[in-house]
Amino acid sequence: MNSVAQFPEVKNYINGSFEKNGNSHIDVLSPLDGKSISKVPMSTYSDLDKAVAAAKKAFPAWSALTLKERVQIFFRYRQLLEKNRQELAELVHIENGKTIEEAYAEVDKSIELCEFAVSLPQIVSNEVQEVSRGVECRIEKKPLGVVASIAPFNFPNMVPHWTMPNAIALGNTMILKPSEIVPLSAVRMAELLKEAGLPDGVFNVVNGGKEIVEAICDHPGIEAVSFVGSTKVAKLVYQRATHNLKRCVALGGAKNHLIVLPDAHLEMTASNVVASMSGCAGQRCMAAAVMVGVDKVQHIIDKMCEEARKIVPGKNLGSVISKEAKERIERYITEAEQAGAKVLVDGRGAVVPGHENGFYVGPTVIDFVTPDMKIAKEEVFGPVISIVRAKDLNEAIEIENSSAYGNAAAVFTQSGGLAKQVIERASAGMIGVNVGVPVPREPFSFGGWNESKFGTCDITGKSSIEFFTQNKKTTVKWNAEAKTNWMS
Ligand code: NAD
Repeated sequence: MNSVAQFPEVKNYINGSFEKNGNSHIDVLSPLDGKSISKVPMSTYSDLDKAVAAAKKAFPAWSALTLKERVQIFFRYRQLLEKNRQELAELVHIENGKTIEEAYAEVDKSIELCEFAVSLPQIVSNEVQEVSRGVECRIEKKPLGVVASIAPFNFPNMVPHWTMPNAIALGNTMILKPSEIVPLSAVRMAELLKEAGLPDGVFNVVNGGKEIVEAICDHPGIEAVSFVGSTKVAKLVYQRATHNLKRCVALGGAKNHLIVLPDAHLEMTASNVVASMSGCAGQRCMAAAVMVGVDKVQHIIDKMCEEARKIVPGKNLGSVISKEAKERIERYITEAEQAGAKVLVDGRGAVVPGHENGFYVGPTVIDFVTPDMKIAKEEVFGPVISIVRAKDLNEAIEIENSSAYGNAAAVFTQSGGLAKQVIERASAGMIGVNVGVPVPREPFSFGGWNESKFGTCDITGKSSIEFFTQNKKTTVKWNAEAKTNWMS
């Protein structure tokens, strides 16, 4: 492909129609070749206000349906995702720059997320008990009202599906704010939800950047805010939304440590660690960032370098998101080298023939990184792995524990006892044993610890049911003759 397709100007989706809003527009660039492929509006508070009004208006009728009725939409929507799988994947590939295979995997994950949503009636059965003779207490899960979801650039299709199907199936109405860098996938989401029969106003899309995120945190008509993005912005959103007395879960950045022990299976470990650091060009919050090599692991490092050299930008490695991202990643590598680390595989200066203006960084393996170096502490968000050497497992776990983040951690070993120590002591929300990208599949929930997540619930799976509902507790007595003890 020499030049990617052009797409119509992105519009907000409010009350079932695409509307031209926003005072200004910015270009949407494809990272594959750096060219403009569309324009996206930078919406304002008044644009959001319209979307909130539509979502509020749609709420009574939508929430009055039974859960079994509401999930019918998602049976149909899931089929539409499957039917349009190729087009949706191509859109992700073009706007985000990941490989087409990775884009297919992203859409498949969205399909799985819908499958969880359609199973909600089997999971959300309410509780009832006769608490005194003739007196029953019951708890029902009720929707909150209008909820908002703010997404990052790295999964334009999947991250909105972390929240949208569950939130809407549970009876809420929603406003999605996609990343302004990758706004195209959300347009197709809106169109397909409409085709699936979702009533107007239940799902709305408002595009923009910082201004619209702040407006979401401030708007009195929005009950809950879910956010996925960098830690810096997650903190701002969590503080602002909760200050305005909203429920909030805000997922932030990551610095995932993979602890490799000398007994680890050679081929599997090397290929898993390299796949974890380089998949989606390292732009996954679950990507391996630091390999903590315990004791004698040179044979595994050599094999990792061999695996990394098989990865070719533009073939089995996508682009990073922007020119700024490419420069930032390359700067981290150079500064690590200047600080005394050794670059074993160097991805700086990658150029893809035919895509000379694309934003590519090759796979990079850096050895002899020390825990005090900037590259060991900060999120690089590129296809780069830093190797930190540890004399024993205790030291390795201490290195993992010292990270400010806590999204994922993993251990590679054939010893159950040693793996158990990492499971017990790693300070991260999602742990892998011989798994480089330990994303919990549905129905298990997704969410990190420490500076990787703010808020009590996880964002997907069973935990998200708590986030998107509130409990109604009812105490009932019909029989006037009932003998009650303290309550009558
Ligand atoms: P980002 O924080 O820059 O942007 C996320 C969202 O916040 C976007 O919609 C953006 O418009 C908005 N935003 C940006 N700056 C803002 C500001 N100053 N005030 C208010 N809103 C603002 O993140 P990104 O670069 O799009 O995504 C990459 C980051 O997301 C990485 O740090 C990655 O680790 C993280 N991420 C985390 C998870 C997770 O599950 N923990 C998942 C995916 C991505």
